[in-house]
Amino acid sequence: MLVVPDKFSPEKRSEIMSRIRGKDTTIEVKVRSYLFSMGFRFRKNDRRYPGTPDVVLPKYRTVIFINGCFWHGHENCKLFRMPKSNFDFWRNKIFTNKANDEKNRLLLEEMGFQVITIWECELKSEFE
Ligand SMILES: [Zn+2]
Repeated sequence: MLVVPDKFSPEKRSEIMSRIRGKDTTIEVKVRSYLFSMGFRFRKNDRRYPGTPDVVLPKYRTVIFINGCFWHGHENCKLFRMPKSNFDFWRNKIFTNKANDEKNRLLLEEMGFQVITIWECELKSEFE
């Protein structure tokens, strides 16, 4: 049975996002330490799950991917610009990453997980 935690309603998610912003650490650490401080217990980079999610919340059947905008080709994002040199290499690389992201998301959803993607740009304050 799929249990979608009310703790991750869209409102809660955006509240979490706004509180995480502006701390001086990597985005993965920001997200994890915030979740931990809120009392969530989770696994990190668990290879048993497709795509090795950055955070797995087994109790809530929820996984979180924390995506760098460049590596995961975040569309319409100011942090993502295709490099001019080695264009074909990067286009291929990023296309492959995006295809894998999508495949893993579908696999996880089939396993009954709620999949949350947090983008790097969502965690940057507007002053950066
Ligand atoms: Zn982005």
